[in-house]
Amino acid sequence: MELITDITAMRSWCAAARRAGGRIALVPTMGYFHAGHLALMDRARSLADRVVVSLFVNPLQFGPTEDLDRYPRDLERDQRLAGERGVDVLFAPAVETMYPSETATRVVVGELGTRLCGASRPGHFDGVATVVAKLFHIVGPDVAVFGEKDFQQLVILRRMAADLDFPVTIVGHPVVREPDGLAMSSRNTYLSPEERRRAAAISRGLRRARELVAGGERRVEAIATAVEAVLTDAGLRSEYVAVVDSATLAPQHKVTQRSRLLVAAWAGATRLIDNCALTPSGEVIAP
Ligand code: AMP
Repeated sequence: MELITDITAMRSWCAAARRAGGRIALVPTMGYFHAGHLALMDRARSLADRVVVSLFVNPLQFGPTEDLDRYPRDLERDQRLAGERGVDVLFAPAVETMYPSETATRVVVGELGTRLCGASRPGHFDGVATVVAKLFHIVGPDVAVFGEKDFQQLVILRRMAADLDFPVTIVGHPVVREPDGLAMSSRNTYLSPEERRRAAAISRGLRRARELVAGGERRVEAIATAVEAVLTDAGLRSEYVAVVDSATLAPQHKVTQRSRLLVAAWAGATRLIDNCALTPSGEVIAP
């Protein structure tokens, strides 16, 4: 596996791969790989001839009081894990490479980026869309793989690719979980043993919601109340529990085949998110 840190070198590598007739898959990440990242790499491998994984802790998507400085980093370990996974290139540019000091232009997401996670993280999705647009321009992937773990991000990036005419297919990959159901996340390393134990309540809440729906409940308010109860009983502070249309993120009052339940909750000082489809046949995200 090659480690590339330079934009021109990355472009040349991709141009050569394309000339050789290869399809390129891109997996954008912030590193500190866990099994969720590795599953995305495997998925990318199944979809293309060449797999590029980007590793960039993107300052633009962190708020002034967020965890940019303490975000976990381990390039050596990530290089080894990606290499073992059959990744062709790990693209790990420096911040100054991606954002030279004269940078003045941003992608603005609009309303989709102001709700749910965007309500407490203003500018976050503009930062995500900006860096992903840059990565799309640098790599020119045929396909890009993102996790459903960050469901709002996935919907926003599908929208961006369509709105800005990126010739890329966006693929969403299901959430990869720990044995007790907690969605894998680089930020799980922040949790104390007690918080880690409590954090499993988030996926229990999702399961409770699916049970209610399986039992015939369709009222979003009743479902949200039940999920909130699971979270607070475990000592978590819920930020939002929302049922939205999986394609548009529009809030819903009644569960439909397109419903997605999204949760953000705090375990101590750590913010965790998770989501699931609410109906058995609703696992696939509507385009
Ligand atoms: P991150 O490094 O946290 O920015 O994540 C990079 C990519 O991995 C994003 O597309 C995430 O949605 C995805 N991802 C992170 N955690 C998981 C998980 N537990 N299951 C599936 N995908 C994930």
